[in-house]
Amino acid sequence: MYGCDARERALALIGSGSSLRAVSASTGISRSTLRDWRDHPEKTRQRASCPQCATPPQPPGPTRDYAYLLGLYLGDGCISVGGDPAKGVWALRIACADAWPGLIEECRKAMGAIRPGNKVASQQRVGCTEVIAYSRHWPCLFPQHGPGRKHKRTIELATWQQIIVGERPGDFARGLFHSDGCRFLSRVRRPLPGGDRWYAYPRYMFTNESQDILTLCGETLDRLGVAWRFSRRNTISVARREAVARLDEFVGPKY
Ligand SMILES: [Zn+2]
Repeated sequence: MYGCDARERALALIGSGSSLRAVSASTGISRSTLRDWRDHPEKTRQRASCPQCATPPQPPGPTRDYAYLLGLYLGDGCISVGGDPAKGVWALRIACADAWPGLIEECRKAMGAIRPGNKVASQQRVGCTEVIAYSRHWPCLFPQHGPGRKHKRTIELATWQQIIVGERPGDFARGLFHSDGCRFLSRVRRPLPGGDRWYAYPRYMFTNESQDILTLCGETLDRLGVAWRFSRRNTISVARREAVARLDEFVGPKY
């Protein structure tokens, strides 16, 4: 099975006037396969059904689901070869804590919305549920995919991803905080004449080892008008009352 890139390149060569024999010799793809691609473009379209493999490439949608899923993926997702590598199928896996069944469901919905033709499955692990869907096109949709851990490589958004994140910063932040973030009550003691009193303030934290992902999170909070600071090298903290209230409009407590 050939990837979309190989197909597009071969069709471009044929379109520019090269013979099937010449294209076959230069690409290693059999003449019968090339003929099939040339004569049945509708089959190719059906098989691809991937906005990034379309000509010209389109951004995936709905953008709301994409921005959310991108946040989840950057926070706690991974793309790996699914099954036989020769088939070119990839698995997108997102680890969701069992404590938050609502978030597992939201993750499933977003994955299904972005790849409506692919089944979304769940796999029980210790303390968490992995939400998985298989597709040839995960690397097209998440070009941040690459070998090794995310914090060991550069994470940069493609231009079309920057546009989506710019349009849907709240959904992107929701995905980031649902995967690698939390909303918690910070208890503070105030000494008063009649004895100490304890107050509880809601706060948000986002922790990630990738400086690039922390930068994306910070830029998104700026865009939403949410004040934040680094409380540690790898942790973004949202603590001011009005900033927490603003972020609550998009994220809120886990459920
Ligand atoms: Zn694709």
